Amino acid sequence: MTSVARVVVIGAGLGGLAAAARLAATGHAVTVLEQAPVVGGKLGWFSRDGHGFDTGPSLVTLPQVLRDLFAATGAPLDDVLDLQRLDPAVAYRFADGTTVDVPGSRELIPAALDDALGNGAGAQWAALLDRAEAMWRATEQPFLRSPLAGAGTLLRLARRAADLRTIAPGRTLRGLGSTYLGDPRLRMLLDRYATYSGSDPRRAPAALLTVPYAEQAFGSWYVRGGLRRLVEAVAQRAVERGATIRTDAAVAEVLVEGGRAGGVRLADGERIAADVVVSNADATALYRGLLPGTAPARGPRAALRRVTPSSSGLVLLLALRGRTPGLAHHTVLFPHDYDAEFDALFGRQHLGRRGPKRPVADPTVYVSAPDDPATRPDADSESWFVLVNAPRHEPGTGVDWTAPGWPTPRPTGCSTCWPTAGWTCGTGCAGGWCAPRPTWSGRPPAPAGRSTGRRATAPGPPSCARGTPPRCRGCSWSAALRTPAAGCRWSPCPRRSPPG
Ligand SMILES: Cc1cc2nc3c(=O)[nH]c(=O)nc-3n(C[C@H](O)[C@H](O)[C@H](O)COP(=O)(O)OP(=O)(O)OC[C@H]3O[C@@H](n4cnc5c(N)ncnc54)[C@H](O)[C@@H]3O)c2cc1C
Repeated sequence: MTSVARVVVIGAGLGGLAAAARLAATGHAVTVLEQAPVVGGKLGWFSRDGHGFDTGPSLVTLPQVLRDLFAATGAPLDDVLDLQRLDPAVAYRFADGTTVDVPGSRELIPAALDDALGNGAGAQWAALLDRAEAMWRATEQPFLRSPLAGAGTLLRLARRAADLRTIAPGRTLRGLGSTYLGDPRLRMLLDRYATYSGSDPRRAPAALLTVPYAEQAFGSWYVRGGLRRLVEAVAQRAVERGATIRTDAAVAEVLVEGGRAGGVRLADGERIAADVVVSNADATALYRGLLPGTAPARGPRAALRRVTPSSSGLVLLLALRGRTPGLAHHTVLFPHDYDAEFDALFGRQHLGRRGPKRPVADPTVYVSAPDDPATRPDADSESWFVLVNAPRHEPGTGVDWTAPGWPTPRPTGCSTCWPTAGWTCGTGCAGGWCAPRPTWSGRPPAPAGRSTGRRATAPGPPSCARGTPPRCRGCSWSAALRTPAAGCRWSPCPRRSPPG
């Protein structure tokens, strides 16, 4: 890069904005081009009637990475954002009724596991985390803090045989976990970390053990006001350091001159010259859509063909009236049979037999419900982000979420209330909105919604009118069937009336 380079960053997700802030802080002339009308990418925000929801990430790990970013570009992070360490980090609920609140500090976790799961559980988990720590030490520098050079990175590691043994190449997360964890509930805790990247723990590499290590050693964190504050702060930092951010500016092509990037062409035809182009778009979008099919793109393109895309997910944003006593910031409800969930998501059976991918009949449910006034209209309400895993959208070869027969998520309305076994409508079902409340012993039904390529997000509900009867305005009820009134915006109505 010349001393002052013209840099174009494609995409204003958190990654693109962080790159822009760092490059601008070192004096380069940076322009960020974002196709969406707002910055943030997957780190989105939805608000309605006083309820606010982070629609993507809900958990911050490795805060040191953010501290480094802010320190390198101006005022320290703590001057700009209120980062809070969560305790408990997460509350787990198992199908056998066991509950465990995992403390926010690593040293307290074994005792909590012993209390909840029985003596010995804590020691098993501690031994696993010791192995995870060794793995972290072996991989942090070559994988997380150095440029990745494909097989070259592994080669560097291979020269140190002890490090290579530590990361257990060739072993799966499930396989390695089973050698440490005797309690099936602990194995479920570990398996869940594979789903962070949309993977099957029975096939995901054992190196993913570094994820629970990072979470438990360095803490689970929340940004007061919602994680979107993080995006706002990094965008502001980039602009303060001189970067220009343009939204509604879709890049259609990376212009290549003499074998290197020389700028971009926008969808409206505008050309922007650059010495350096940084892509924050998905690698597949870059190599298949934005770069011409010339030699430099061929290798990565071939590599991408071998990559298995992650599973998808269905998100519900629930505006709820009332407060749930003892509700943790993060809650996970496990199913009876976790393998059945992976079989459905990835279309395979445990013993290698293949089966069709299908929506999960009894999915793990993740609830993020920050106790933060910025996310709710008043002290007597809660805003829940609810996520269940779903097979990815694969018309032709897998689940086609656009095919007839799948309910389509509605922007708002009763169709997002799931009043089936274990779920009851809250007192606030009115004005066209059912406010579902899980009873913790019960479980919601399979995801009812459409999944697009990665994550599907059902936009959040309007809040319910207070004191009105629990039914859609204008709709009538019989014993089990709610009949939508003519012109009811929220049809189809749920097929079972809420109690009371
Ligand atoms: C539902 C959900 C929950 C998650 N939970 C967590 C969590 O709890 N913790 C966590 O750490 N991570 C979580 N993640 C992952 C996390 O959101 C992502 O890793 C992170 O936000 C990715 O940021 P990014 O900047 O790399 O990419 P993105 O956020 O995808 O940003 C890419 C940007 O590039 C833009 N773009 C793409 N192509 C073009 C183009 N041609 N022209 C212009 N702009 C373009 C896109 O519009 C987008 O704004 C979650 C993700 C999802 C979807």
